[in-house]
Amino acid sequence: MRRISPEFIEQVRMANDIVDVIGEDTFLKRVGVRYMGCCPFPSHNEKTPSFSVSPDKQLYHCFGCGQSGNIFTYLQVKRGMDFMEALKQLAQRGGLSLPEGSGPEEDKAYQKRKKLLEINLFACDFYEKALWALPSSHVVKQYLKQRELSDETVKKFRLGYAPANWDGLFSHLKKKKYGDLDLVLELALIKKKGDRCYDFFRDRLMFPVFAKNGRDILGFGGRAFSADQAKYINSSDSFVFHKGRTFYGWQKATGFIRNTGRALVVEGYTDYLSLYQRDVKNVVATLGTALTEDHARWLSQYAEQVILSFDGDEAGMRAAERSLSVLLSSGLTPKILKLEKDMDPDSFIRLQGKEALQKKAAVAQDLFLYLFLQELKNYPAGVDRFSLIEKIAHLLVQTKKEVLRKYYTDRFLDSFGFDEKVAREALKRALKEKIHKINQKSYSQPAPVSVRDKYCSDSTPEVKEAHNEPKEEKLSLQSAPKAELYLLVLSLESQDYYTIIKDSGVLKRLSHAGIVKMFKVIEEYSEQKIEYFPTLTPVLSAMLKNPQELQKEQYPSLTYLSDEKVKIFIQDCINKVEEEKKHLHLKSITALLRVDKENADKYLMRIAEWTKKSKSTEKEI
Ligand SMILES: [Zn+2]
Repeated sequence: MRRISPEFIEQVRMANDIVDVIGEDTFLKRVGVRYMGCCPFPSHNEKTPSFSVSPDKQLYHCFGCGQSGNIFTYLQVKRGMDFMEALKQLAQRGGLSLPEGSGPEEDKAYQKRKKLLEINLFACDFYEKALWALPSSHVVKQYLKQRELSDETVKKFRLGYAPANWDGLFSHLKKKKYGDLDLVLELALIKKKGDRCYDFFRDRLMFPVFAKNGRDILGFGGRAFSADQAKYINSSDSFVFHKGRTFYGWQKATGFIRNTGRALVVEGYTDYLSLYQRDVKNVVATLGTALTEDHARWLSQYAEQVILSFDGDEAGMRAAERSLSVLLSSGLTPKILKLEKDMDPDSFIRLQGKEALQKKAAVAQDLFLYLFLQELKNYPAGVDRFSLIEKIAHLLVQTKKEVLRKYYTDRFLDSFGFDEKVAREALKRALKEKIHKINQKSYSQPAPVSVRDKYCSDSTPEVKEAHNEPKEEKLSLQSAPKAELYLLVLSLESQDYYTIIKDSGVLKRLSHAGIVKMFKVIEEYSEQKIEYFPTLTPVLSAMLKNPQELQKEQYPSLTYLSDEKVKIFIQDCINKVEEEKKHLHLKSITALLRVDKENADKYLMRIAEWTKKSKSTEKEI
């Protein structure tokens, strides 16, 4: 093996950011000029971060276990590599050619990546030349002019033009005998239909998407100008291109985001370029996808705050909403830069200038609160707001920053009109009754002890009376919810039906005490005296004030149904009971929220857990 030159080692070191490399193993958070995280070495298992990484010096140091070093020693210690292995891996990662002597087998992936990137570069050259060859009257040139994108910007980001004919790039590749066709097809620059190959991008303004290193081109975006083409298309994901892990413009943005601790995320190539050209540089653009966990992870390495500036239309709002939980769970503070209708960041900065945009960004609204207040409009007071509470609870559970979670919870309670002192006492009384009722109704899911202790310790005389209800008193099913009653009657109809009902788990969610008692009897019978199952109806009827209540003929909805229809009907009843139970549970927790504000986040957490649980039960069915 040839000796590796110190220059090459330095090149490899420069091509990789130690923050990125270590950030793949442990979550690093920017604190002033350095990054802190939990020590990634298994020998030092810690829960509070004492591991520090300096991006300036490209060194790490752990204040807990004392280990320190550079990017090479990190891989050696962490991955058990020798120096050469670490060097090779980092060279590959940084897109550098490996020193001779490394076997072709182990570098297959590297070689493939290299070839694919070369093809992209070749295509980029081709598109770029085609753009500069266009007359200034061409619609693409007119567009650039109208968008006020300077030649300098166009050159810096290597914009291009994909010619309108079907085989512009393809015949050029053939002429130059360039690239393996399979690889070109894999990049989807060329498409194949039968025996015919044709260009994927035609008659489009081309935006090459660069890798973080600013040198490699991972894929392309293309904008069309004729009405019969989709306005924007992107290269499909490939061995080298993953839209969910890539930002447009990130190669220029890292330093600026790091310095400001703030990242502006826009939706379009031209938005990005327009901002960059006007010296707003802590910006990246998404590639037609919502923000993914990978995106958020990358952002969180450099930024504290992420400001989304998506289009003001409905699609833009939906994208912002989808991004919210991803950002919150990465420990970021998401904000939203709202522009006037029909404005995008590009048109805004062109009309009003950089300062106006920066001013707006500085007072960007909190995304969580913004979306919440929007939603609140859809749920006027008095209308059932439980589904909104559920939604909010899920988001709060995901919010990694504790301060933020507390803040959101408080704001949520305030806006929801929970903070009325006068009503508090009355609510407390109402709540006591409500919880008591729920505890009585459900035999399987009593409210947690802490809740009862807090509000029901002084049980009233009526309560005691209820507990002492004489056992032999006959039951009435008159007030039972219809769905529960039907399930009972159908259980008596056939043991098959009973088994379906029992296996669904719905029996644990019944609310009516009489129905619950009857099902307990059925359960005993079906377990021990199976042959007596047909005699159940008279046994149960004897327990009732009105024995007719168990007669199927009493209920028109149950008669004249085929076996298949009955099974569907049973499922409907089960769903209804589940829904009702969920409703009751949410109601009780919502009531708690009102009077016990300090513990609100705990209750919201419980709502989230509970709805998750009931959803998974639904799926099992
Ligand atoms: Zn350590």
